Amino acid sequence: MKAVTTDNREIELSQSTVDALKARLRGPLLLPSDAGYADSRTVWNAMIDRKPALVARCLGVADVAACVQFAREHQLLLCIKGGGHNIAGLATADGALMLDLSLMRGVWVEPQEQIAHAQGGCLLGDVDRETQLHGLAAVMGFISLTGIAGLTLGGGIGYLTRRYGWTTDTVLGMNLVTADGRLVRASSEENPDLFWGLRGGGGNFGVVTGIDYRLYPVGPEIVGGLVAWPASEAPKVLELYRNLSEQAPPELTLVVLMRPAPPAPWLPPEIHGKPIVAISACYSGTAEEGEKVVAPIKSLGKPVVDILVRRPYVQMQSLLDATQPKGRRYYWKSEYLPRVEPALCDKFAEHAATIRSPHSAVILFHMSGALNRLEEEHSPVGNRDARYLLNITASWVEPAEDQANIEWARSAWNEMKSFSTGGTYINFLTQDEGPERIEAALGKSLWRLAQVKARWDPENMFRTNRNITPSGEIRVLAQA
Ligand SMILES: Cc1cc2nc3c(=O)[nH]c(=O)nc-3n(C[C@H](O)[C@H](O)[C@H](O)COP(=O)(O)OP(=O)(O)OC[C@H]3O[C@@H](n4cnc5c(N)ncnc54)[C@H](O)[C@@H]3O)c2cc1C
Repeated sequence: MKAVTTDNREIELSQSTVDALKARLRGPLLLPSDAGYADSRTVWNAMIDRKPALVARCLGVADVAACVQFAREHQLLLCIKGGGHNIAGLATADGALMLDLSLMRGVWVEPQEQIAHAQGGCLLGDVDRETQLHGLAAVMGFISLTGIAGLTLGGGIGYLTRRYGWTTDTVLGMNLVTADGRLVRASSEENPDLFWGLRGGGGNFGVVTGIDYRLYPVGPEIVGGLVAWPASEAPKVLELYRNLSEQAPPELTLVVLMRPAPPAPWLPPEIHGKPIVAISACYSGTAEEGEKVVAPIKSLGKPVVDILVRRPYVQMQSLLDATQPKGRRYYWKSEYLPRVEPALCDKFAEHAATIRSPHSAVILFHMSGALNRLEEEHSPVGNRDARYLLNITASWVEPAEDQANIEWARSAWNEMKSFSTGGTYINFLTQDEGPERIEAALGKSLWRLAQVKARWDPENMFRTNRNITPSGEIRVLAQA
């Protein structure tokens, strides 16, 4: 069978070589003709269509180590799939050996210590479910089907970020298999240089098999949900968002979005497909206080729907999952903002009105608080001046509509990027975004990241990511 090496040569792997790898694994090794290969190789974004030579569905750390050693022996290109949600499709590469970690989804909680140990293939919802059993939560993101590893290695924001920082700021340690096939611990006590690099520098240093998260008391009941109005109400809603989000206590996170109303069961059928503006809110303190804090949202004008109520935190964490299904075509543009200016609100509404697909949206995430209090050099995720995140999300079904939807996102971005801090979120970069965008995301940390890379992966084995080479070059794997 044909495979690709790290220096992009095509090589032939004999049947006996493949069988030898199979014999070293407890989990299945899938070839393109095997059942399950198609599911493993596909990622969330249907714009990405790559075919690894082999997929190893690792069952544990020993399988991961065996794969890394095998890749090393054959100089094979290696890629790692956590939750497969990276929009640029960084989890997959043509001709590579893919390590699919989706069978490694165990979570162990130490309630007294307020720590969760999660395996590298967990999805966010796996961690939320197990930790909420104890009234605890880790800082996870907004969609429960996203992978913890990709999210944490690039930063991680969610409804608890304003209180506790980037997800990666709350990590106590990670276990990973490094390029030499060893299992290594990275924490502030052990290999602190590696620990620093992993917190924002992506999967550039090894295969993360476990992450230890600091947990915080949250819920189980919180006040959360969404209120939506017709898009004609945007000026008032965006003004409320601006004022409320600037003064909000850290327990309150507000997300505002504009899009055509999806056919969700909680939206009245007559509004489906019509343009709406909505505020999604989560108050993670007491429910009594939460009801008071969200009252101005609930009392604004005449909403088309109001599902901002007391509910389990774990339910809040998956409330918007259905809006972002696997298998659609996606293209995003994102910027960090220092504040929300009235002029930005005007542009926000203007570009929402020209959306080309029933699934696209413009979204503002609220993130000011704990993350702004740490030093820029605390970890490569950086961007400690970011207070909001603008995400222009084109989403559609038909390949014939690629150009129209991509153009819409690019033109909205062109008109709104002047409001940026100059920084962008590494985890939201699309595949056509090159070195200058990676620099915008990681700029101040690039040189130090290269030093960590030179020590831990001098031959640049882990390169199917936002790759910083040992010499400090930024490389983007050129694949369709
Ligand atoms: C619908 C949706 C919602 C999102 N919501 C949020 C959000 O609320 N907050 C937020 O911060 N981000 C969010 N993101 C962005 C998300 O953080 C990134 O897409 C992230 O890369 C997803 O991680 P994954 O494990 O699912 O990705 P994958 O595509 O599996 O991997 C992404 C990258 O991480 C590497 N990687 C994955 N697993 C490992 C591992 N175990 N060890 C080493 N490297 C690994 C891969 O090689 C690849 O380079 C969202 C993305 C989507 C598509």
